[in-house]
Amino acid sequence: RSTVSNEKIMAAVQLKDISKTYTNNVHAVRNANIQVLDKEFVVLVGPSGCGKTTTLRMIAGLEEISKGQLYIDGKLVNDIPPKDRDIAMVFQNYALYPHMNVYDNMAFGLKIRKFSKQAIEKRVQEAAHILDIEALLDRKPKALSGGQRQRVALGRAIVRQPKVFLFDEPLSNLDAKLRVQMRAEISALHQRLQATMIYVTHDQIEAMTMSDKIVVMKDGDIQQTGAPLDLYNHPINKFVAGFIGSPPMNFMTMTITEKNQKLWGSLDKQTLLLSDELTTIAKNKVSQQVIFGIRPESLIVNENAQKETSVDATVEIVEPLGSEVHLYINTGSSQLIVRTSPEKIYHPGENIRLTPDMRHVVLFDRETELALN
Ligand code: ATP
Repeated sequence: RSTVSNEKIMAAVQLKDISKTYTNNVHAVRNANIQVLDKEFVVLVGPSGCGKTTTLRMIAGLEEISKGQLYIDGKLVNDIPPKDRDIAMVFQNYALYPHMNVYDNMAFGLKIRKFSKQAIEKRVQEAAHILDIEALLDRKPKALSGGQRQRVALGRAIVRQPKVFLFDEPLSNLDAKLRVQMRAEISALHQRLQATMIYVTHDQIEAMTMSDKIVVMKDGDIQQTGAPLDLYNHPINKFVAGFIGSPPMNFMTMTITEKNQKLWGSLDKQTLLLSDELTTIAKNKVSQQVIFGIRPESLIVNENAQKETSVDATVEIVEPLGSEVHLYINTGSSQLIVRTSPEKIYHPGENIRLTPDMRHVVLFDRETELALN
């Protein structure tokens, strides 16, 4: 393993039925099954307290596993201490040593592992080059910007040439613009190092843009695992549907009715004719309520729409974002967000007709909130 960029190391990470119960009886993670392939970039995402940091810390060996097995590269590592797991972790607060300059911060992990001065020099220079911080090597952390500190924290992980990189919300202390930039840099780093990376965030946009695979968690349970667009287009339940995507998916409670041998979704005074595909999905739900989910870009404003395939609504708020416009609209029974192009100008109070693109509708069971299919 001589250089950072051209080595071939296998580093699949497998969590088998892993649970964590803290001593205060908090079930932070329940029966987590996650398969991270070699060189894959996997993002664990979910709201605060869902157990993602706990999961990452168990992989790092910083938290004991209550139940289940953790394998790295096929080897059971439950009882292997963190320093022997061949993993490097990048923290949200960077965890740099304030009294050391950038060079020594990056070199520290290698020094305690008794690398030669020459080997350390080579690795630090190489990582500094990759991260474009060669000019900062003599500075102390307090003389660095937030983005530069984050790069040093990355550098400290890179010089170790670990099998697996773990990231715990590494961008959350950066301002919005820098976050977007560092997002791209970490993705580029992944490409370049060809390393296995596991990344924790509560930000679904980071999850969507950076990952090969997303694991969505809630209250200690994995809700769904899949490629970003899989989760976006085929959410397993209402939680995942609402969590992934911005602005979020719209939900309307509808009653399924049958008229003229066709199925309709009734919203208060309005009814929508269901497509053939949705009719098949909803055939066991006649006279029952379902949740009708539709993304903001799949609600089409269309003045000439037929009554049976559209709903009347009133524009309440117009939010121009330059490249697109968000309309907050009211159907009388539901509040919806519509994403539209800036070409046509809308005004608050305006009445419009909206046609849901039925190909992109997801129906959910009212009770279980699971997607119907
Ligand atoms: P956040 O985004 O807020 O960091 P998270 O998804 O990373 O949240 P965890 O930090 O893994 O969530 O916490 C999961 C649950 O475990 C929470 O209910 C939390 O209060 C609890 N918890 C975390 N650490 C401990 C601990 N050391 N002792 C007891 N309970 C803990």
